[in-house]
Amino acid sequence: MHKNLIVADALIIEVDRNNEPVILKNSAVFVQDGIIKEIGPTVELRQKYQTEPEIGGTGIVATPGFINAHHHVGLTPFQLGARDQPLELWFAERVKMRDLCPRLDTLFSAFEMISSGVTTVQHLQSRAPGNLPSVLDRATKIVSAYTEVGMRASYSFALRDQNRMIYESDEKFIELLPSQLRSDASKYLRSFSLSLDEQLEVFNILKSKYKYNDLIEVQLAPANLHWLSDRALETTAKIAEQTGAKIHMHLLETPYQAEYAKRRTGGTALEFIDSLGLLGPQMTIGHGVWMNDDDIALMSKRGACLCHNCSSNLRLKSGTTDINSFLNGNVPIALGIDEAGINDDRDMLQEMRLALTLHRPAGHQKPFPSAAQIFKMATENGALTTPFSESIGKLKTGMSADIVLFDWKDITWPYQDNDIPLLDVLLRRAKRSSVKTVIVGGEIIYKDKRFVKVDHKNILDQIHQDLSRKDTFEELSRRNVSKNILSTVEKFYLGWLEK
Ligand SMILES: [Zn+2]
Repeated sequence: MHKNLIVADALIIEVDRNNEPVILKNSAVFVQDGIIKEIGPTVELRQKYQTEPEIGGTGIVATPGFINAHHHVGLTPFQLGARDQPLELWFAERVKMRDLCPRLDTLFSAFEMISSGVTTVQHLQSRAPGNLPSVLDRATKIVSAYTEVGMRASYSFALRDQNRMIYESDEKFIELLPSQLRSDASKYLRSFSLSLDEQLEVFNILKSKYKYNDLIEVQLAPANLHWLSDRALETTAKIAEQTGAKIHMHLLETPYQAEYAKRRTGGTALEFIDSLGLLGPQMTIGHGVWMNDDDIALMSKRGACLCHNCSSNLRLKSGTTDINSFLNGNVPIALGIDEAGINDDRDMLQEMRLALTLHRPAGHQKPFPSAAQIFKMATENGALTTPFSESIGKLKTGMSADIVLFDWKDITWPYQDNDIPLLDVLLRRAKRSSVKTVIVGGEIIYKDKRFVKVDHKNILDQIHQDLSRKDTFEELSRRNVSKNILSTVEKFYLGWLEK
């Protein structure tokens, strides 16, 4: 039996119903077989478990591991050649991203997440070319990479059955292109050819494959309204009901998506998916930037969660979510770094700080999120968007020991006034350098800034070596497709936002 006593000057165990942090001073957590067995004063627990190995100690503040509730890829699109563009143009831009083997790719972003305190990731795999066996092979390699590095992951394969490039059918898109581009562009679109049934098969197969893996769960991800037919949306709702699976769906990310929903349904995207039975506590809406007041009220009524992707919304020119209105409507909000984050480095501490800072509108009486509310988004609420909701996001007896140890001296050196509450100091000042140890399911996976299970340097060297090669034939061809289709895509949306 694996046992540890984790000792800290302060344990931030949760944020309570009144949005106040619950902090235990000079306390310890006794962990056995990955589960938190007891929490109490250090003096008492040391006495009781004096023969067990100790982690942490003086100068440590411990928190639940963070949950990055919306993630797609390893190396960022920017690193792989795609410039930041408004979302609809970025779909074309990112066609040119270079290829990297899924294991190295996944490990790369896992390193970045773990070193900023993330213990669980919601991995939404957006695009995988090829037939069912090759899609399953890629998915398995991604999931295995998380297991290799020791991270907890909720995986889903994004469902899509239409409109792969613009908010219109693939046939119409090809028709809009100059004739010399049609063949290469259709070839690219055809590479994502899994039928809806096959895509759902990916969910079923992976769900049973990882049934007995404590660190891996599988859920559903209908990609976005425009990407799914009515039939596909209805089928997803049915499967979610039958299996109890959680769902994560991009929705209303840009004003163009709000306009698309109006044209397709006559109402809002949220009303529409609600009418198909998709909206409920099992649903998390990714982005939701363009929800109106009625949508927010409907989210609240149905108990659905929002995943706020703060930096992504800025980088892809999508707009700014009014999260104060969601907070006012008691909608649980999680945080997602999405593809990259502001520094292009999947830093959860920075994502939290950005969310804390961006939503402070002018006007003394105007509401704004507190440090505790943002912390709750990155912990308990993030957990709520995954199938692990009962076991992660808090430090409580019976829950999984997913814990981050912060070096308080690194955060506060050379001085931090004690009038500022501890959690405010953590949110405003903690950097990657302050993350000392990361524990997932009771196992130390990051210690003194070193990854315990995987050779970090070696993986980075392999990535460098692999991508130092010349473009493959496919990569060259995709660069050309991306460059040449961009103006057609841009033209398609002209006038969409004019009233
Ligand atoms: Zn996304």
